[in-house]
Amino acid sequence: MNDLDDVAALGTVLGIWAHPDDETYLSAGVMAIAAGNAQRVVVVSATAGERGTDDPVAWPPDRLAPVRRWEASAALAALGVHDHRWLGLPDGELARCSTAEQARRLAAIMDEVAPDTILTFGPDGVTGHPDHRAVSRWVDAACLRSSRRVRVLHAALEEGYCERFRGLHERFDVFMDPSLPAPRPAAELALRLSLTGASLDRKLVALRAQATQTQPVVEAFGSGPYAEWVAEEVFVDATAQTYGQWRHPRSQHEPAAASSTAVSTNSPVAGSR
Ligand SMILES: [Zn+2]
Repeated sequence: MNDLDDVAALGTVLGIWAHPDDETYLSAGVMAIAAGNAQRVVVVSATAGERGTDDPVAWPPDRLAPVRRWEASAALAALGVHDHRWLGLPDGELARCSTAEQARRLAAIMDEVAPDTILTFGPDGVTGHPDHRAVSRWVDAACLRSSRRVRVLHAALEEGYCERFRGLHERFDVFMDPSLPAPRPAAELALRLSLTGASLDRKLVALRAQATQTQPVVEAFGSGPYAEWVAEEVFVDATAQTYGQWRHPRSQHEPAAASSTAVSTNSPVAGSR
């Protein structure tokens, strides 16, 4: 299998994330390949990331929110993705939102979009951000409500990657929970892209489009290390443990016994944000 085949097997892709830039950091390469394959790609962002700034005086939430939405539109346009939904929830407050209510909203989007694959956070939220963890719980609850069989992939960090960037992660205090990162062995990964050349350039264009978030990180890391840091996109399959068996989208018309594919693991991890 190569990247194109791996991504083609995802079918219609629905990404469900907390803040604009989560989708780009964790799945830009996946989305660009899928969009290029004419697979449907839809992104949901729970918040506008309107409180994610070190300078809230210059960037109060009512100024930052529209800027973050415009930046996300530009980033997704660079990736060939044009269907972006906003839940309009308060940045930093997702853990206080009703899981049942947000699961209902996500289940309605799932019914409409009919995804074959959902890309989202695992229980650790990659970085431990409480908003990320809340979104993971909502997706779990939405999938359990839905009659639709969907494959759920959780963004993760591979162990070699964690080792390679350990110094950088410690220096910049990337993780919000001392138990993280939670590195995953390569053998547990359901999907792994290592972007190079034009595909990495394209992701960097999308990230630069979100300059209010990414520019300080690029300056702190240096552009070379930053490019290496964002080049990996890794997912583990949460479907088998959480939601029962996953059926490959190409196999929908085959007998269930022959087409069901059980998969492994859950939980994820990666990056700042
Ligand atoms: Zn985030």
